[in-house]
Amino acid sequence: MNTEQNVDVAVIGGGAAGLSAAITLARSLRSVIVVDAGEPRNAPAEGAHNVLGLDGVAPRDLLATGRAEAERYGARVHEDRAVAARRRGDVFEVDLAVGATVRARRLLLATGLVDELPAVPGVRELWGGGVLHCAYCHGWEVRGQRIGVLGTSPMSVHQALMFRQLSEDVTLFVHTMPEPDDDAWEQLAALNIQVVDGTVRMLRTDGGVLRTVVLADGHEFAVDAVTVTPRFIARSDLYEQLGGTLTEHPMGAFVATGPKGRTDVPGVWAAGNTSDLAAMVTAAEGAGVEAATAINADLVTEDAAAAVRARAQRYAAV
Ligand SMILES: Cc1cc2nc3c(=O)[nH]c(=O)nc-3n(C[C@H](O)[C@H](O)[C@H](O)COP(=O)(O)OP(=O)(O)OC[C@H]3O[C@@H](n4cnc5c(N)ncnc54)[C@H](O)[C@@H]3O)c2cc1C
Repeated sequence: MNTEQNVDVAVIGGGAAGLSAAITLARSLRSVIVVDAGEPRNAPAEGAHNVLGLDGVAPRDLLATGRAEAERYGARVHEDRAVAARRRGDVFEVDLAVGATVRARRLLLATGLVDELPAVPGVRELWGGGVLHCAYCHGWEVRGQRIGVLGTSPMSVHQALMFRQLSEDVTLFVHTMPEPDDDAWEQLAALNIQVVDGTVRMLRTDGGVLRTVVLADGHEFAVDAVTVTPRFIARSDLYEQLGGTLTEHPMGAFVATGPKGRTDVPGVWAAGNTSDLAAMVTAAEGAGVEAATAINADLVTEDAAAAVRARAQRYAAV
């Protein structure tokens, strides 16, 4: 890549949201660069589910296909990390780790989020496999199995109820979660969800396969899967450099947007998990497309105004 690039739109992040936006923008004959660090959130998972027509597709295969589709329409996808962004007059300048700078009239932040996992040994190692968070993503795969819920947040009871829909053998490990209220205790009891007091020391594996939840007091409980409630923190470095701030949410923090992903920073849009912590793949794709249509419309308006001014100047000159 040249050290300087001028485009209509720079899309930061080439996951489901960013690539979908790039396709829509490129199909509108907008010059677009996608800068992607290549770490989609669901990469540890074997397959992405609830993706119509492609259910179970390997996450990286889905993105490779999306990238080829975007490039077919002229979008350029650049493997790199955007490290700094600033406004300079009418354009944004985005510095990449390799040293190049992209200049763009509009910016779409599709950088996803970071799953902050509970600091229990075994959780990170098994994340996306034996350790899961989303009943819709991988609940079917563990249906009917022994499921342990690692209690860390007020959402842990809700998560236990969600997975109880998929298995009769659900155990809630209290660990660090707040004391459930009376209603929650009644729900847990009525649904035969076992509640285990005490701190979880680790998840024990055998040959890389999850076997037991080990408590600090040494007790072990056999499980096939463990669910966790990460804190979902949108990647916001660039947004904050541009003057934006993250909005707190009970489950984490995100970039708040108006209709079609417009942020509080003029000229900057956000889509996917950056602005919607709960967005699954197809919701992220949809948000990317929506943001792209809004960005294109914004540019159409700006281009039309510029054409009007140019025309007036031509007439004034004669
Ligand atoms: C374990 C797991 C399993 C899941 N399974 C499913 C499932 O089965 N079905 C489903 O619908 N959803 C699933 N999800 C949710 C799914 O991962 C998200 O919906 C989806 O990834 C959101 O897409 P996105 O484009 O917003 O973000 P991402 O896919 O995370 O893409 C963001 C991209 O931006 C890049 N990036 C970040 N910062 C920068 C930067 N500064 N410069 C350049 N690039 C940058 C990242 O490297 C990444 O490639 C799962 C999530 C997890 C954690």
